[in-house]
Amino acid sequence: MSATTSKHTASDSVWTICYIGLGSNLSNAMGTPTEHVQRAVQALAAHPHIQNVAASSLYQSVPMGPQDQPDFINAAVRIETTLSPIALLDYCQLLEQQAARVRERRWGERSLDVDILLYGDAQINEPRLTVPHSGLHERNFVLLPLKELGAVAQIEGQALSAHPLANDWQGIKRFEQT
Ligand code: AMP
Repeated sequence: MSATTSKHTASDSVWTICYIGLGSNLSNAMGTPTEHVQRAVQALAAHPHIQNVAASSLYQSVPMGPQDQPDFINAAVRIETTLSPIALLDYCQLLEQQAARVRERRWGERSLDVDILLYGDAQINEPRLTVPHSGLHERNFVLLPLKELGAVAQIEGQALSAHPLANDWQGIKRFEQT
């Protein structure tokens, strides 16, 4: 932790490495999908209890649900935080609200989806929060950016980097701004 980038907290605060998943496929008055994702990264970095933020590349992926919707822009973000898991979830949901997210159909288009993928090595099963995220093991658009960031975790009994979907480019490519 470099002295120039560290944020100050009480001396007994523990900084936990977490990974956040971002996704967007809907433009609105607040911005385009790329802007929604980039703004969320900036907002994570601006939080006083979040430091050392590193974002993956942007990825473009075909939608998982209904196919009559635009491709998604996805990214993962590595953070260190002193926020509790629920406080971090509250902040993730605030970021969704700030992107004027409206809930349309299941698996449908959205201006911004912000998920807690990993919170240290915690296993959390609470009404509002499941960590590791319940969809982690079945989504290459989550595992590829996590692997890019060097995330270390066991997914279905194997190292994340060795998981088949962390090496599967079907339906996904690195996003190239046109
Ligand atoms: P979604 O449709 O992906 O936006 O799902 C949002 C719901 O998932 C919210 O009610 C959250 O409380 C719940 N949820 C459970 N686990 C997580 C997680 N790891 N990250 C984000 N939301 C979660």
